Amino acid sequence: MLVYNSQKHRKQELEPIEPGKIRMYVCGPTVYDQIHIGNARTFLSFDVIRRYLMYKGFEVTFAQNLTDVDDKIINRANEEGRSAAEVAEEYSNAFIEQMHRFGILDPDIRPRATREIEAMQDMIKTLIEHGHAYAADNGDVYFSVRSDDAYGILSGRDVDQLRAGERVEVNDEKRDPLDFALWKAAKPGEPSWPSPWGDGRPGWHTECCAMIRRYLGTPIDIHGGGQDLIFPHHENETAQCMCAWDHALANYWMHTGMLRVNGDKMSKSLGNFFTLKEILDKYPADAVRLLMLQTHYRSALDFQTDQLDGAVGTLERLRTCVKNLRWAANNAKEDGNLTEFDRALSKAADEAQAEFTRQMDDDFNTAGGLAAIFELVTAANKYLAEAGDTIASSVTLRAADTICELADVMGVELDAAESGLPAELVDLARERAGYEGSDPEEAAEVLLAARQQARAAKDWGTADAIRDGITALGLVVEDTPAGARLSRA
Ligand code: AMP
Ligand code: ZN
Repeated sequence: MLVYNSQKHRKQELEPIEPGKIRMYVCGPTVYDQIHIGNARTFLSFDVIRRYLMYKGFEVTFAQNLTDVDDKIINRANEEGRSAAEVAEEYSNAFIEQMHRFGILDPDIRPRATREIEAMQDMIKTLIEHGHAYAADNGDVYFSVRSDDAYGILSGRDVDQLRAGERVEVNDEKRDPLDFALWKAAKPGEPSWPSPWGDGRPGWHTECCAMIRRYLGTPIDIHGGGQDLIFPHHENETAQCMCAWDHALANYWMHTGMLRVNGDKMSKSLGNFFTLKEILDKYPADAVRLLMLQTHYRSALDFQTDQLDGAVGTLERLRTCVKNLRWAANNAKEDGNLTEFDRALSKAADEAQAEFTRQMDDDFNTAGGLAAIFELVTAANKYLAEAGDTIASSVTLRAADTICELADVMGVELDAAESGLPAELVDLARERAGYEGSDPEEAAEVLLAARQQARAAKDWGTADAIRDGITALGLVVEDTPAGARLSRA
């Protein structure tokens, strides 16, 4: 399979360091506020990349840090009159909560910068020993950019072209304006840790590099983040690794395109953002996922909230199709000889699976992968409309399973929503039909059977009580050729 390596500016065959295994790291958020949906797009992209690698049979180890000490956290703490640790704790928890809501798999390892000080100091010591870093008089420690012949290898920047300006902080302690801080001397009121260079805290670029080394071992297979991290963050990360341990930090560098609003990158500083929380308060997570995944992860994504309404419709269409397929399969007669309709649907399922893999093997083309799923949904809907009472349950189930399995690689749950029936149905079935289980779907069946029985016995009282109970839960009994079922009114 092909992966676009931003360091090489081209797609390359994915060749893991250890066969069958992938070690990957994606830079996590700075936890000073709710993340916005631009950040979420990057985390979603890597969630799907990880899921697809797992689907392909790789054993994936995924690490993502929390940057829980940083100027932004300290500023917020000072504004609110509380400690930086409190602010970081609140927004670390908020981040994890929103990631769960968004259906992002937990990383296998989630290191926090403030708990990894020793690993960072060890790395800084090594860099000083190798002549690539120096302690300034004030207790800062800097990486000496010009000591690294390979500097610029990731972003393609030429050291001599880099000016002290944009994102290159000038100060008197540095020997060269290009140098960047590995360790920052403590200022009054800031969190700090003791070190051989005096009390202080780690620099941002230092954090990821030391944690990757500690938890995954270097080099790793895949290092990811948004395109805005290529320089200076990832350039500095790999420079440290190269100078401390003599090898690159990662074999493949993957970077996501920016989510934009009216052509501008969504960012906190521009104020043109929606938090992930506010979007998930209004829209189903899976609809947001579908919308974002319809753009390739490396392309810019121009975001408008009204596109989400369309995505809600798309999600509904997928869920309805799966629900109808499962329903039809449950109520179909035993498979006899396969008809031409059955063979067509079976072929559509094979093709969807193959096309999905072809698209995703090509640098995780989620837009193409989704298109393959939609094709199968179209074929399935056609089958349900045309096959009439000749529906074959094995073919129908296979189509439903394929749609669900492929959607699951996108982290989109189609079956879960199928049991969109309220839990109260269980109580109703207990009361009216002596049901003893706890599954709303099963409760619905038991209730409908009891209603049927009552009607057959002309026990109108019982039949009406069951129907009223169902209506009170906002459901209706839908009579279909294959029997009755419950759905939302
Ligand atoms: P930060 O907390 O700023 O380091 O951002 C966390 C992640 O979100 C990084 O991987 C950034 O590259 C990414 N990111 C920030 N803004 C955007 C955006 N507008 N679109 C996509 N990714 C972004
Ligand atoms: Zn990082």
